[in-house]
Amino acid sequence: PREAILSAEIPEPEEDRDLRPQRMADMVGQQEVIERLRIVVDAARKRSDTLGHILFDGPPGLGKTTFANCIPRELNVPLVTSSGPALKAPKDLIPYLTNLEPNSVLFIDEIHRMPKPVEEYLYTAMEDFRLDIVLGEGVNARTINLKLKPFTLIGATTRAGMLSSPLRDRFAVREHLGFYTVDELTEIVRRSAAKLSCNIAGDAAIEIARRSRGTPRIANHRLRWVRDYAEAKSSGQITVAVAQAALAMSGIDILGLDKQDRAYLETILRVFSGGPVGVDSVAHTMNLATDTLSDEVEPFLLRCELIVRSPRGRMLTSKAFEHLKAWGNK
Ligand code: ADP
Repeated sequence: PREAILSAEIPEPEEDRDLRPQRMADMVGQQEVIERLRIVVDAARKRSDTLGHILFDGPPGLGKTTFANCIPRELNVPLVTSSGPALKAPKDLIPYLTNLEPNSVLFIDEIHRMPKPVEEYLYTAMEDFRLDIVLGEGVNARTINLKLKPFTLIGATTRAGMLSSPLRDRFAVREHLGFYTVDELTEIVRRSAAKLSCNIAGDAAIEIARRSRGTPRIANHRLRWVRDYAEAKSSGQITVAVAQAALAMSGIDILGLDKQDRAYLETILRVFSGGPVGVDSVAHTMNLATDTLSDEVEPFLLRCELIVRSPRGRMLTSKAFEHLKAWGNK
């Protein structure tokens, strides 16, 4: 009811919900992060205390929301969800904060996109569980102190660097989620295939994992596409040949890059002679938002060593030149 209304603001893609692990024990990879979280979660549970605020950062699709969903379950406390862009003004925070039950978790996704005044309201809420609300304006303005029940804020951001330090410092625990290994993604593909009741060969699961940009969400997405393809084109059995054909058809190359990734590399090659070039110029040329490139496209290309960041901008590596020679324009 109340929670449902508050959470309804950002409907979760059905795709994510079906396959999302419900417990930290069901999550694959991120072992060190899970171990550290277990310690603080167990301690809070044993002391019946409020869990300290937690910040997750990392590229999209690596498990930030999954952690935010699992943690309250481990603590057996309610979860309320919002997002930075939905909190346009300080008053938007009030219903969330005043309706929380003691020790519940408030999850704010894309917390770096909260406007500054909203962020400032959060400071006292996080630190002293108090809201200072200013009513009226000018000489008639007065401040009301509102006491809140203790709660845990979980924030998720694709860019920790964009958070102001006063906000960042108020998180007791800060965890960076990195890309997953092929073995970990293979395990995720296998488990998801079982949940979707589809029949997948071992080497086909590895093939999908290899081409999923180190990202569980992409692995699940590609698995669904391969499954549809297998049902349309053959018996539904996912063999490695079926997986390869399906991925090739949607423009996924051997490194798992999609058309947008290659368009980014090609733009730097063709228009900017391989770089160095600022990300804004590339975004402008591609007619894309800079955020999309720096949050979604570049992290994986950096990790694959297809590009490097230099003080003067992004540059293609020789690996990128070779990759484009083999896969460009496909
Ligand atoms: P983020 O919030 O970082 O963008 P999500 O937590 O929404 O990413 O993850 C996207 C999907 O990827 C989830 O629905 C889940 O199915 C899958 N996923 C993410 N992390 C894991 C993990 N550690 N183990 C298994 N599946 C995962």
